[in-house]
Amino acid sequence: MDFESDFLVIGSGIAGLSFSLKVAEFGTVALVTKKEAMESSTNLAQGGIASVMSQIDSFDLHIQDTLASGDGLCNLDVVEMVVKDGPERIRELVNLGVQFSTRTPTPSEEEPEPFDLGREGGHSQNRIVHAHDMTGAAIERVLVDLVRQHDRIHLFEDHTAVDLISLSTRVRRGQVTTTHEDLCCGAYVYDRNEHRVKTFYSRITLLASGGAGKVYLYTSNPDIATGDGIAMAYRAGATVANLEFVQFHPTCLYHPDAKNFLISEAVRGEGGILIDGAGQAFMEAYDPLKDLACRDKVARAIDTELKRSGDESVFLDITHRDSDLIRERFPNIHDKCLSYGIDMTRDPIPVVPAAHYMCGGVVTDLYGRSDIQRLYVVGESACTGLHGANRLASNSLLEALVYADRTAAQAITELSAIPDGAMPEVPPWDDVGTTDSDEAIVVSHNWDEIRRLMWNYVGIVRSDKRLDRARRRIDIIQKEIQDYYWGFKVSGDLIELRNIAVVAELIIKCAMHRKESRGLHYNLQYPERDDRRWLKDTIIRRPFLG
Ligand SMILES: Cc1cc2nc3c(=O)[nH]c(=O)nc-3n(C[C@H](O)[C@H](O)[C@H](O)COP(=O)(O)OP(=O)(O)OC[C@H]3O[C@@H](n4cnc5c(N)ncnc54)[C@H](O)[C@@H]3O)c2cc1C
Repeated sequence: MDFESDFLVIGSGIAGLSFSLKVAEFGTVALVTKKEAMESSTNLAQGGIASVMSQIDSFDLHIQDTLASGDGLCNLDVVEMVVKDGPERIRELVNLGVQFSTRTPTPSEEEPEPFDLGREGGHSQNRIVHAHDMTGAAIERVLVDLVRQHDRIHLFEDHTAVDLISLSTRVRRGQVTTTHEDLCCGAYVYDRNEHRVKTFYSRITLLASGGAGKVYLYTSNPDIATGDGIAMAYRAGATVANLEFVQFHPTCLYHPDAKNFLISEAVRGEGGILIDGAGQAFMEAYDPLKDLACRDKVARAIDTELKRSGDESVFLDITHRDSDLIRERFPNIHDKCLSYGIDMTRDPIPVVPAAHYMCGGVVTDLYGRSDIQRLYVVGESACTGLHGANRLASNSLLEALVYADRTAAQAITELSAIPDGAMPEVPPWDDVGTTDSDEAIVVSHNWDEIRRLMWNYVGIVRSDKRLDRARRRIDIIQKEIQDYYWGFKVSGDLIELRNIAVVAELIIKCAMHRKESRGLHYNLQYPERDDRRWLKDTIIRRPFLG
């Protein structure tokens, strides 16, 4: 055994960091993270955190907006809990040292909270607490600093979790098998510097490994977002759900040199208008809320416009607003665009949709528990029931914060009930008989093929025929990866490839199962929502072999 702790936390985004800081008061924590600690979707979040922080807003309104966006599939208990816990969690972040943008005039009796509240699509009130347009980075920096200073948290950077370990786990030649769902007791973790797989034993394990945008060719997500947690939990026997609901952000910067740079929805919140190549605004034709319609509607509208015109992008125009205001409100977006020769105070910004957020994930209850004992899941890897068929903008940082808090409380209680004493026998990693790969081209080719096929066949607009084609291709690719994985020593790229293939397969299966269009899932063969048959989650569980 290479490391033993009370808590093993996989991922250093808002979910993993918040959880770690809370549980560290009650036990030792090993926090493993794939690359450098700051590298996460959290760090890229621009818009902010949705929460009721104004007298003219109400919990009821935030709940109604979340339910409307979720298109019939939200779990009401979860929505109420998350919305109501929000303000306290935000104040907690402020107390930890996160500096959110404040407003003028200063707080008064009618409006006691100091926050400058932004507006985003689908919200009926201004309720987005933000730090200019770099909210995630402001949070991530503070939390990472606190984690680094904490003497009970051991941070392992450049460590990639490969597979979960449970009591029935067996490992041979790098292949992990779990014969039935049981009790999680840690994970095998690949040390990217030492090029070897280590065994991390833990009494409680938290998956906080974020989303899976890299399954798609175009994405706003950072490179770490390869769905590892979802794939690992599925392989270990946990139930996953609703993976057909992939949110495509309507407005990613379109520029040959720009890799996944998002133009925040807040730009439309401040009056930005989508126009086509001829300068015509087009959202009015698609939705009464025009540019502030929900993301799925805006993304689909742009997809339709692009397919109709054959253009490579549409444009987001905020040039009619005061240039000082634009620079002050969006310093990061302004500077980034300028670095590509686009002055957003004078030029419309070229934008395209890109995969942005996974509404589905590992199914958890109100306390972050998966259906594998001692395995908790928080953040974008989880499917809590908050988002239903479509996430409301800025509800995901909120969800991660609220669940990290509740899950930490539950995990601390569970830890106190685990008897001290001998650890169960955990088999060490076994890769005897494998060799170093001499064909990296196979890995890079399959990576590329999966991402392209998901973009082309399982993207914003789907059809039975495209899904069927995607299913056949992914089956073949899975087989190739399996053969490859069996023979060669694991590497960072191979681990990720295996995971994006699993998540792609799960997305396709979920999408094929749902014979209607709802929220983020749109199928040309079934363009209507069908509440009679499909007012339910899409649930998948791996069949056990032994
Ligand atoms: C560009 C962008 C803008 C966004 N803007 C907003 C916004 O304004 N408001 C909002 O609410 N949401 C926003 N989101 C969504 C939100 O940022 C994410 O849903 C949220 O940050 C997820 O937090 P997390 O802790 O679950 O995962 P992440 O923050 O993605 O962290 C995942 C962590 O897990 C690690 N990891 C992954 N796999 C492994 C592995 N196998 N082993 C070890 N470590 C692993 C990663 O390295 C990373 O540290 C945005 C997302 C993006 C990409």
